[in-house]
Amino acid sequence: MTLEGLTTLAEQRQWPRYRARQLSDWLYHHHVEQIDEISNLARSDRELLSQSHAVRVRPPLEVHISSDGTRKYTFETDSQDVIETALIPEGERLTLCLSSQVGCRVGCVFCATGAMRLRGNLSAGEILNQYRSIPERDRITNIVFMGMGEPLDNLTAVIDAVYALTEQWGYGMSRRRITLSTVGKPEPLRRFLDRCDVRLAVSLHTPFQEERRRLLPGTRGYDLNELIAMLRERAKDDSRRVSFEYVMLDGVNDSMEHADATAALLAGMDTRINLIPFHPWDGNNLVPTPPAHITRFRDRLEHRGLTATVRATRGLDIDAACGLLATQRPGRATEPVSAENSPAS
Ligand code: SF4
Repeated sequence: MTLEGLTTLAEQRQWPRYRARQLSDWLYHHHVEQIDEISNLARSDRELLSQSHAVRVRPPLEVHISSDGTRKYTFETDSQDVIETALIPEGERLTLCLSSQVGCRVGCVFCATGAMRLRGNLSAGEILNQYRSIPERDRITNIVFMGMGEPLDNLTAVIDAVYALTEQWGYGMSRRRITLSTVGKPEPLRRFLDRCDVRLAVSLHTPFQEERRRLLPGTRGYDLNELIAMLRERAKDDSRRVSFEYVMLDGVNDSMEHADATAALLAGMDTRINLIPFHPWDGNNLVPTPPAHITRFRDRLEHRGLTATVRATRGLDIDAACGLLATQRPGRATEPVSAENSPAS
């Protein structure tokens, strides 16, 4: 719950307003696991509150540990589905990659989560629990919303979770250390940018509108040029860092024409593009771009004035690398997926 929600709760119970702040302290600073631990609340109030609310910290079901130190946690959701969360150590940084949905309706052709289709949204509590309940919580330096799901398709819960992570009444993390990744549907993106000042990573994957609609079927109906124009406009009075992501697919989106058109599309923006090696998975017949060609593609982008980096692959041996988070559940698509044969969104 946000401080606003706790304030409403206090008003409904006819408690003094400061009670909301006390409750947020207990939840986010003292990390209580049950209402009965809230010792400055009268026993009768605790009992009444327990009838309608619960703290419900849910420990991970499993942890898988990669040879490179990456960890993948699985959690059960209220709907008895399973979600995955990756924890990635990298030098001084320890990055937690949160899921916001069970599956995803965008259906990107290179993504195992997309092949699950959408099974449901996570509540703000289920999103926060991925941070709250792991043993490394206090050592986490960065959080990215890049796990299962399109965060802006679950806007209200994601905004509440971002508030609880960043506000002083919550966990108080720096906004500069949180990044939300999205395909960038303009309307929910506008609402998110108006309310949350965290970093943004936009999933681009091709500079060509029609091709993007094939690779990211859930972006049909959205105009790429309109999205870029909106980001340029906002950059005039918004200092947050916006970056772009580009999964490299052999023979699909990795030609030099793609590099040149990407550089033209983003020309003049203060941004960076992260090139992500594709990680194949069973049932998908796309092929990764060879590393040497990724380097040539990056060099071409840089030659055209863009800052470009190649993201290191992490957690591949435990299926925690980019695009591989997915949980085997009834209803998961099993048919082969390619750029032409993509899952309907
Ligand atoms: S890449 Fe992101 S938006 Fe695309 S299907 Fe996977 S989880 Fe959804």
